Amino acid sequence: MIVVLLGAPGSGKGTQAKFLSAKYGLVHLATGDIFRSEIAEKTPLGIKAQAYVKTGKLVPDDLVTEMVAARFNSNEGRYLLDGFPRNLAQAQSLSSILVHENLSIDLVVLLKISQELALERIISRRVCSQCGEVYNIQTKPALNGKCRTCGGDVVLREDDFEATARKRLMVFEDITRPMIAYYQSESVFREVDASRKPEDVNAALSMLIDSIFAKS
Ligand code: ADP
Ligand code: ZN
Repeated sequence: MIVVLLGAPGSGKGTQAKFLSAKYGLVHLATGDIFRSEIAEKTPLGIKAQAYVKTGKLVPDDLVTEMVAARFNSNEGRYLLDGFPRNLAQAQSLSSILVHENLSIDLVVLLKISQELALERIISRRVCSQCGEVYNIQTKPALNGKCRTCGGDVVLREDDFEATARKRLMVFEDITRPMIAYYQSESVFREVDASRKPEDVNAALSMLIDSIFAKS
């Protein structure tokens, strides 16, 4: 089963993807998370990606595609893609990877949200610098600046400064939106209202996935 989760920065892709991958036993492939950990560990890929991620630009396609392809392994065949693909060229690379692995996409879901709400969520988001747990200064505050799970420092993500967040939203509109149009014409495409609270979005997504399981 291959599920692709699409949505603007701040739409809640990461939160929903964690929930869904645990519930359905899918491998969570989050390109943004992978880049952040490669950057933190100063690997060759991290060093190449750093300037792009920090300034809210897309990392060049060849780096992204190579990284994703290396993580596909036909034994598993159960993936939840979060943050990839992000443009038409990546969507085409994904189809080639899947053909090669003898897999196909079962569901593409767009988490729909307004730009205003997305921006509001991003700038109130904080993350644990140790374990990656996501907080929100309004809806899910840390404990005196520390992570409730591991005690690590809870900080603003480097690309969540308002100016960079706005840039990411622009990149989404200009570059990712046309790719969504490409998926929209396919039968596996669905949309979910992501402005609701996380549990409600969880429920809507679970219903979609359950309906696919029921069919197969
Ligand atoms: P968000 O969806 O909130 O922007 P992500 O964690 O998915 O957050 O991505 C953070 C950054 O990682 C992006 O702004 C970009 O620099 C890089 N990135 C992640 N996925 C891709 C991708 N598929 N192609 C190019 N760059 C990517
Ligand atoms: Zn933590």
